[in-house]
Amino acid sequence: MVTQARPQIPLVDYLELGDHPHLVASECTNCHARFFDRRNACGKCGELNFTKVDVPTEGILRSFTIVSFAAPGISVPFVAAIVSCEGTTVSANLVNVTPDPASIDLGMPVHLTTFSIGLDSAGTEAIGFGFEPTATAPSTKE
Ligand SMILES: [Zn+2]
Repeated sequence: MVTQARPQIPLVDYLELGDHPHLVASECTNCHARFFDRRNACGKCGELNFTKVDVPTEGILRSFTIVSFAAPGISVPFVAAIVSCEGTTVSANLVNVTPDPASIDLGMPVHLTTFSIGLDSAGTEAIGFGFEPTATAPSTKE
């Protein structure tokens, strides 16, 4: 009997799994605005045509908020973030970080990470994504 890897599905269509998980944006062929969900037309210029582009997995934290109240079943606090991946804006949670302002710096380097969200009854694993701080040289500030 052959052992197979557990089947996985991404939580969102724009998360590409595999050896190097990354996000895939739809880029407007006219103005190059990027979107992560399905669009009938560009929200910026109205163009109808898009191309798929891979988004860099490295980014910079541009904004965040610490969410301390959520629907039942969602554990809080968590960090909702806006990340700039070489100019492409991504909203995602900041993970593997203490949800405390003292642990989070605007402008800090972060990178995409994926994690298991759960299994369905057929054994298919749902995979979500977030960004986590990128290890950097120790700071010299006191
Ligand atoms: Zn456009």
